[in-house]
Amino acid sequence: MDDIVIVGGGIIGAATAYFLSKEGRKVKVIERDPTYKKASFPLSLGGFRRQFYQKENILLGKFAREFISQIPEILKTEKNPNPTASIVPNGYLLMFGPEHAEEQYRALENHRACDAGTKNIKGSELSNIFPYINNAGIETATYTDNKSEGWIDPFMFHGALKSKAIELGAEFIKGEVKSISEIKAKIIVSAAGCWTKELLNDIPVVPQKHTVFRVKCPKHIPEMPLTGDLTTGVYWRPEGKEYLAGSPISVFDAKDLEPAWNDFDELVWPALAKRIPAFEELKLTGGWAGYYDCNKLDNNAVVGKHPKYDNVYMASGFTGRGLMQAPGIGRALTELITTGSYQSIDISVFAVERVLKSNARPEPYVL
Ligand SMILES: Cc1cc2nc3c(=O)[nH]c(=O)nc-3n(C[C@H](O)[C@H](O)[C@H](O)COP(=O)(O)OP(=O)(O)OC[C@H]3O[C@@H](n4cnc5c(N)ncnc54)[C@H](O)[C@@H]3O)c2cc1C
Repeated sequence: MDDIVIVGGGIIGAATAYFLSKEGRKVKVIERDPTYKKASFPLSLGGFRRQFYQKENILLGKFAREFISQIPEILKTEKNPNPTASIVPNGYLLMFGPEHAEEQYRALENHRACDAGTKNIKGSELSNIFPYINNAGIETATYTDNKSEGWIDPFMFHGALKSKAIELGAEFIKGEVKSISEIKAKIIVSAAGCWTKELLNDIPVVPQKHTVFRVKCPKHIPEMPLTGDLTTGVYWRPEGKEYLAGSPISVFDAKDLEPAWNDFDELVWPALAKRIPAFEELKLTGGWAGYYDCNKLDNNAVVGKHPKYDNVYMASGFTGRGLMQAPGIGRALTELITTGSYQSIDISVFAVERVLKSNARPEPYVL
C-alpha cells in the first residue's frame, strides 16, 4: 500500500507533493497528461495578489508572495540550481464603481486586519498616480505599490515545485484515475482541478471556460500593474512588449478550448479603450482559453478531508486564484494530514462540509 497518492500533478498537486515530501512522507502523484495541455495552471495569467474580501484569501495571498520570493533558495535542486518563477512585482490596481464601493470599504477593513498594505484612493484621484487611466465612473480604487503583488510565470513555478518534490523523494507517474476506489493508499489527495467532480461527484467544482486576449499597443506602459476594472469585469496586464487582457464572459459546459474571439470586439476592446485611451490603438495579436476550477456554490476554495471517506482529502474550486493559493494550500493540507489540524493559516472555513451543506461563503473579488 502506498503512503500518499495525489491525483493530479498540476500546481496544487505539485505544491502539495513538495510540502508533504519535505515532511518525509512518501508521495506518488498520478497525472493523466504530463504535457499539461488543458490543465488550468499553464493557461493562467500568473497573478498573485492579497486584495480579496475574505481574510483567508488575503492571508493565502500574503503567503504566496513570501513563498515565491524564497524560490531561489528553497526550491533549488541539483538538476535545477537556479529556480525562478520570473516575478514581475508591478502590483495590482482594482477599480470599483459606486455599486461596489461599500463592499470594497468593508474589504479594506479586512485588508487592514491582515496587514495587507493595500492603499485606497478616490476614483477622482486616480490620475494623480496612474496618469494613463480615465477615471469616469470609478468611485474608489485600491492598489499596492510595495512589490507585494504582481505576476509570475506559472510553468516555471510548477517546474520548480515539481523538481524539488522529486528531489525530496516524490514520484510523478503518468496515469488516469477513473475512481477514487481504485487507489490503495493510506492517504489520497484529490488535486484534480476543474475535473474534481469526475472523482468526487458531490463537489460542485466544474470547468468554466475563460478567454485571454493578447494585444499590442504603440504606447507601452511597462510599469502598469495587473489592473481590474470591476465596472466591466475586464482585467489586463503587460506581457513583455504586449498586454494580456482577460474577458469576464465565461462558459460552463464548453465543448473545446477555442477562444471566444467575438468577445474581443463586443466587450473587451471597448472596455479597455474606455479605461485607457491609449488602448484605442491596440491590435489583437493572439489569445487562448483555459478552464477555471469554478466552485459553482460560492466561487471559493474547497479544501480538507472529505467526510464521507476515512482517508480522502481534496483541494479545488479556486475560481481564478489556484496558482497563487497553491503554496498556502499545499502547506495547509500537509499540516492537516500530518498533525490533524491547520497550524499556520486556519482555512477551516473552506471545509468540504460547507459545500455538502450548501453553506455559501462567496468571495466577490473574482477576476
Ligand atoms: C485564463 C485563466 C487565468 C487565470 N489566472 C490566474 C491568476 O492570475 N492567478 C491565479 O492564482 N490563478 C489563475 N487562474 C486559476 C488557476 O490556473 C487554477 O485555479 C489552478 O491552476 C488550479 O490548479 P490545479 O492544480 O487544481 O488544477 P490544474 O492546474 O488544472 O491541474 C489539475 C491536473 O489534474 C489532472 N487530472 C485531473 N483529473 C485526473 C485524473 N482523474 N487522473 C489523473 N490526473 C487527473 C489534470 O490533467 C491536470 O493536469 C487562471 C485560470 C485561467 C484558466
